[in-house]
This record gives sequence, structure tokens and C-alpha cells, in this order.
Amino acid sequence: MFAQRISTLSSSIIREILAAAQQPGVISFAGGLPAADSFPEPNWAALPPQIKQYGMSEGEPELREAIAAAAREKGLQCEASQVLVISGSQQGLDLVAKLFLDPESPVLVESPTYLAALQCFRLFQARCVGVPLGETGPDLAQMDAVIRSQAPRFSYLIPSFQNPSGLCYSVAARQAVAALLDRHQLPLLEDEPYCELDYDGVAKPPICSLLKSAPWIYQGSFSKILMPGIRVGYLIAHPSLMPHLVRLKQASDLHTNRPGQWLALEYMRSADKQARLAKLQDFYRLRRDAFAKALAEQFADLADWQVPSGGLFVWLKLKRPMDTRPLLKQALANQVAFMPGEAFFADDEPPVGYLRLNFSHTPPELIEEGLRRLRQVFEEAYAA
Ligand code: PMP
Repeated sequence: MFAQRISTLSSSIIREILAAAQQPGVISFAGGLPAADSFPEPNWAALPPQIKQYGMSEGEPELREAIAAAAREKGLQCEASQVLVISGSQQGLDLVAKLFLDPESPVLVESPTYLAALQCFRLFQARCVGVPLGETGPDLAQMDAVIRSQAPRFSYLIPSFQNPSGLCYSVAARQAVAALLDRHQLPLLEDEPYCELDYDGVAKPPICSLLKSAPWIYQGSFSKILMPGIRVGYLIAHPSLMPHLVRLKQASDLHTNRPGQWLALEYMRSADKQARLAKLQDFYRLRRDAFAKALAEQFADLADWQVPSGGLFVWLKLKRPMDTRPLLKQALANQVAFMPGEAFFADDEPPVGYLRLNFSHTPPELIEEGLRRLRQVFEEAYAA
């Protein structure tokens, strides 16, 4: 009855975990939720009447202008005509997959990578091929080998405060990756929803801005800097890709919701935008620091990690590796939730012994208690 691709759809571990993690009393380090305290209160009464009507597939012209201007400030030379407003950056993954992928097409991804990108690309029956991440960026020799041996259709990278690893590529790594992509003319999808959640002021030029000739798509989102419920993100693409992406967008949902775009434009135009972002960064920096302190107290003998300079996640590597997936049930019984790291690898047999912990959502006064509960789960598993 169903299309072939439906057989590749597995139940989303994220959805199951998030549902269980929402039970009262559970301290959840599982999701990627921004802290709700930071969401502004929209003044819907000021919504211009024309915004209620259908709009353009490309997005609101003034918002596209504002997005292009902000991207130029990051060093990405682009015009408003290269901006497509999308329904969250998640839609960009879908549109780019539709643009490049046939069944069995290889896609180069980071190892580990964003779980919902793997789900999206697999829905197009793609073969995701992982390149391991080192301390400053992807393993370049392996990346080169994958490009030569697999001929991927495109590469999917999250260079700033990556989900799930928290890694931010060094400037040298960004330059080297750009040179490699140029050499092979491999298209890049650069996904940067966490770029603005920078707590230590890290230099991070977009890789797309460093490319000389490879086709590129740069993605950003209002989910983390404004609010995820409005579902507004954007992609900025090399001019040669734009007409295709606009048609794919049109066929998918005509256009992104206009009230959400209006809110995003209000945000972009607000006189206190920089101050609001700085306040948000301060808020998350405090949570990151509280989390890092509690983690050092509770997990120093069990795991290794790098304290991230931005984003929402800490990535733990167990000193004594074991599959963390079966521990989730025990954790939930212990009123704490985490994300098993195995789910973030493209491999059929993923490496074991990793977990992703979100530090943005749990109030500081509950972090220590949550980590204590989690530690107990691991202690019991090792003792068994
Ligand atoms: N890309 C990455 C790497 C993400 O972590 C997320 C979700 N947090 C998304 C894309 C989707 O975000 P959104 O659709 O809310 O912009």
C-alpha cells in the first residue's frame, strides 16, 4: 500500500525519549529545548492585516534583506535574492535532500551528526557516510578518502557548536575543509542553528564564505535566538541553486507562515537586538558554567568531555564504553533523561559509550540532582 521509503522509517528514538522525559518529576537533559524564560511576548495586536494573506514562496522581501545583511556581517557575501525563508532549518534539510538525492545516493555527514538530518536523508533512501570529528574539525584525510571512494552528492556539516558534540571547528579547519570541497567541487550544506549561541566569543567564519567555486547552501534559524514555535529559519544559496530550491519550497508548503516571518523581522529590526542576544548569551553561559561545574563533580571518574564554547549540548565519552541505549529505561525510572549517543552515528553498528546532555533547559538548582540521579544509573550498570 505504501511507498518504498516508508519501509525505511523507523520510530524516532528522540520522540519516544522526549515523551517519556516530559513526565512530571523527570529532570531532562535529553532534548535540545531552548529555555522558555528567554522567549519574548509577541504583540500580536500589531500584526499588519496583509500578513494574514498568502505570501511569496521566497519569503517576506524585507526579512530576506535583513537576513542577507546579517549574513554579510558574518562574512558571507550574498544578496537578498539568494535568501529563502523556510519553515525552520529542518525544512532546509528536506529541500536540499530533494534537490540532490536519489535512492542509494551517498551523503557525507559528520560522525556523529544531527539525528533528525540522518532521518531526513534516509527517508530519501540515501546512504549516509560518516567522517569522524577530531578536536578542531573533521578528519581531513578521511574526508578526502570518503569523497574519492564514495562520490557523495553533497556534504552536510554543522561547524559551530555542533549537535551533538558541541564542537566548534577552528578557523584553520574551516579553511582546510573549504579547500577540500573546492578541490572536489562537492556541494556543501552548512547548518548553523547554534552560531549565535556563542558564550566565549569564538572566531567562526562560515565555511561557505571561504569557498571559491564549490556550490553551497548556508542555513540559519530563529529557533534558538527568538523561539522555536514560530518555525522560521532561512537558507542562503549559491545563485545557481536558488531557482530549484524556490520551486521545491513552493511544492512543499507554498511559503513559510507570515505571522512568524513578521515576528522574525520585528526581531531583526529591534533597536535592542544586540542587547537581547547578549542577554541570551549571558543566560546560557551561566547554565553552561553551572552544568560544567556539576558535571566535573559527578562524572570526572566516569567520562571525558570538552566544555563547549556555545550551543546547547555537552557530549560525554564514557571511560569504560558500554551501549547507553539500554540504560535509558533505568534512567527514566530514576527520574532523569539523557540522549544515548549511539543514535547520532550514521553507521549500522555505531560506536558505543557516548551520551549527549542538554544544559540549557534545566534550571541550575536541579542540575546537580539530575546528574546525581544519572550517575547512579551508570554506577548500577557497571556494578551489575
Ligand atoms: N539543524 C540542527 C543541527 C539542529 O540541531 C536543529 C534542531 N535543533 C535543526 C537543524 C532544526 O531546527 P529548526 O527547524 O528549529 O530551525
